[in-house]
Amino acid sequence: MAKVKGFLYGVCFVSSVALNFFFVTNSLFAGYENKQLSWSQRAAAEAEAVASVSCSGHGRAYLDGLIVEGKPVCECNTCYEGPDCSQFLPDCAANAESGDPLFLEPFWMQHAESSAVIVAGWHRMSYVFADHTSISQVLQNHIHKVHSIARNAITKGKYIVFGVGSTQLLSAAVFALSLKSSSLARVFASSPYYPVYKTQTDFFETVHFEFQGDASVMKNTSDSGGNVIEFVTSPNNPDGHLRKAVLPSANAIYDRAYYWPHFTAIPAPADEDIMIFTISKLTGHAGSRFGWALVKDKDVYLNMCEYLELAEMGVSRDTQLRALQLLKVVLEGDGSEIFHFAYEKMRDRWEKISQTVSFSKRFTIQEIPPQYCNFFEKIRGPSPAYVWLKCEREEDTNCNDVLGAANIIGRSGRLFNSEDRYVRLSLLKSDDDFNLLLYRLKELVTKENGTETMCC
Ligand code: PMP
Repeated sequence: MAKVKGFLYGVCFVSSVALNFFFVTNSLFAGYENKQLSWSQRAAAEAEAVASVSCSGHGRAYLDGLIVEGKPVCECNTCYEGPDCSQFLPDCAANAESGDPLFLEPFWMQHAESSAVIVAGWHRMSYVFADHTSISQVLQNHIHKVHSIARNAITKGKYIVFGVGSTQLLSAAVFALSLKSSSLARVFASSPYYPVYKTQTDFFETVHFEFQGDASVMKNTSDSGGNVIEFVTSPNNPDGHLRKAVLPSANAIYDRAYYWPHFTAIPAPADEDIMIFTISKLTGHAGSRFGWALVKDKDVYLNMCEYLELAEMGVSRDTQLRALQLLKVVLEGDGSEIFHFAYEKMRDRWEKISQTVSFSKRFTIQEIPPQYCNFFEKIRGPSPAYVWLKCEREEDTNCNDVLGAANIIGRSGRLFNSEDRYVRLSLLKSDDDFNLLLYRLKELVTKENGTETMCC
């Protein structure tokens, strides 16, 4: 009996200690949480209220969007309208024109909690960080980590420059390289090329540099002297091919916007002297306007910094905070989730388009061979950001017109210094945009084949 009593006392004692511990720690942490949430509660509640506005899965209400009758207004995806974006507009064109990377929006909806940022009214009001730079060291460290996980670039021994999107860094790099010699720097890119290389270089043209067009023209002339700058986009926008510089004496600016496992096999980590990346195509946050350059040469780095300093006094500290939070999510767990998500999505889109076009004799798309990927550690198939579609019929000299008649909007080949027989179709947009593009393309191919129905 005494033994049983002793046992019961023991159980009571242990339970009481455990309960006390539970209540004490619980009240301690509750106190801590309440204290932390004193000034952020209103902002958090407002953000959650806007996020909970239902836009039928075809739109979104934003914190900085319009408010009508005290309620945030839904901003509908293309081809949807109505107060809750539930009405589909059946005659609406499939718009595959822009490279807006909304394909990653579902990933961020799944990571709503970890990716949210609350910005205090007094956040980083100064022109400089504590170390008197305009670059967050912590963000810089996170960028190094993301590259080492994606295995797509060697960052060791490189300086890092932040820019307002990679767009600004492309311009800063031309400026910096043009100062390498007193003669005019001639700027080239291989067709088909991303149009901004020309438009931006033309716009900012100085006595130091000038855009001169297609690199192949330069390659075939004997005049290869002087200061030559070559934009190399790898993988290329519009056709997704991995590229190397073609002008041996040129200072190359490697635009690596799409060198992520989402869009291409990574045969080896890139290690060029100037490499430019952007969160627009890594996390999909094109609106945040944040890019970075990895630069080997100290003088080029300093000249790029000077450009940034004169143009902007560095990238917005609010943007750097946002980018940091996004990269923290990218690095969560083993850091591979976003790459798997993005690759699966892009591959699926590419396969659906490829299969549709395979039933056509009128259209073809670029071929991208399967390749070994350093990130996935296996051979993997293509998952490019864009379809580079060609109209094969002799009379279809303007392919964008042919697609336009079928209610599909693409970007003409001419804009990429190529023929109008080509059109670029974006695979980066929202699920709604992609589904409509696929539907319209299927319709077009089915019509081409008369009454024959397409399989699958
Ligand atoms: N380079 C290439 C090849 C691109 O396609 C883009 C965006 N479409 C950019 C640079 C610009 O990206 P960002 O949003 O970082 O300015």
